[in-house]
Amino acid sequence: MRDGVYKMKDISIYIHIPFCIQKCAYCDFLSFPGTEEMQEQYVQKLLWEIRESAPAYREYEVQSVFIGGGTPTSIPAEQIVQVTETLRKCYRIAADAEWSIECNPGTADAAKLSAYRKAGINRISIGCQSVHDRELKRLGRIHSREQFLDCYHSAREAGFENINVDLMSGLPEQQVPDWEDNLRTVAELMPEHISAYSLIIEEGTPFYGRYHRQLELREKGLEPDEILQRIPVNMQDAGLLPSEDAEREMYHRTAEILAEYGYRQYELSNYAKPGRECRHNMVYWQRGDYAGFGLGAASCVNDVRWKNETDLKRYLACGQTADLQTEREELTAEEQRSEAMFLGLRLTEGVDSAAFARRYGQAPEYYYGQTIDRMRAEGLLEKTEGRLHLSVRGRDLANLVMAEFVE
Ligand code: SF4
Repeated sequence: MRDGVYKMKDISIYIHIPFCIQKCAYCDFLSFPGTEEMQEQYVQKLLWEIRESAPAYREYEVQSVFIGGGTPTSIPAEQIVQVTETLRKCYRIAADAEWSIECNPGTADAAKLSAYRKAGINRISIGCQSVHDRELKRLGRIHSREQFLDCYHSAREAGFENINVDLMSGLPEQQVPDWEDNLRTVAELMPEHISAYSLIIEEGTPFYGRYHRQLELREKGLEPDEILQRIPVNMQDAGLLPSEDAEREMYHRTAEILAEYGYRQYELSNYAKPGRECRHNMVYWQRGDYAGFGLGAASCVNDVRWKNETDLKRYLACGQTADLQTEREELTAEEQRSEAMFLGLRLTEGVDSAAFARRYGQAPEYYYGQTIDRMRAEGLLEKTEGRLHLSVRGRDLANLVMAEFVE
């Protein structure tokens, strides 16, 4: 973060690797298993896209690169190195740029990790989700607690001094003490950053189908055991997801426990040691420019937003980078302001009124005066040292508050 002000000629790059060993039960990301041949073909096309797109970004300096997915660590390390080399060759990249890679513990060994470090990747984001094997199994994760711990220590040994660990709360049958144990186990490892999201049952995922079939049976009056006999799955969601109160308690305990270990909550779901906030994600929340390469990758540059082709066959067959772009739209002034509000309010520091006025013409109060007054009167928004931010109660109702700013 640069004092809350994002320089306009900076850019961040997102690279999408869509391959995963198997689909997790809750996942609605653009990801799927792929053969070696498919992976090789995909990476070659991705390198082509990165090279062909470079002239459009001549005036930009890359401040962060995020290699995500999918599971980037599931493809050969040499292919990731090809991506980093191509980026370095074709783009101007800041000497202190943040280079992150997402890692699934079941897929990254010491050799891969040290190849990433050698390629200049300086931040690793480990998708742990839980340190309880029972919970991992339910989520359909491919790794165990032991594999996560091995991966974490191997990353340190490979020289990673900036590690994020992802955790997920609100899992079926999870109790507040289970969640606290997850947090403490990870915090004791002292990663520089922890992301703690709650499980969302997204439409189209295996969880969603099971959850709704089980709820139907529950509504018909069947007991959990009977439901399980009918739908023998490795989760017992019907009525067994934590209550809203338990979820809220988990959320509040997250900030309290992580504060004990020296983490500061800087975004609704993100916690960092001082100075270790994720620079790449800050760009999204502060509406900086970003270019996405790869299947389905999103870009927003100069307030023009688009999304890459999501069909693998069509992506591979595409002959011109412009033809990859779908859903291209130029954001209106109203949309830009509205995004600045609902994204900025995700940050603990909130929206800096003066910086907002410099960028969008007037302070937030000018455009959203009535809404802001009402939210402040309801104790959901506060203003501190010129910054509008969510109150503690506002964080609990963040979705409702943000919806008020959507144009
Ligand atoms: S590893 Fe990540 S991207 Fe892949 S299926 Fe699981 S949650 Fe989705």
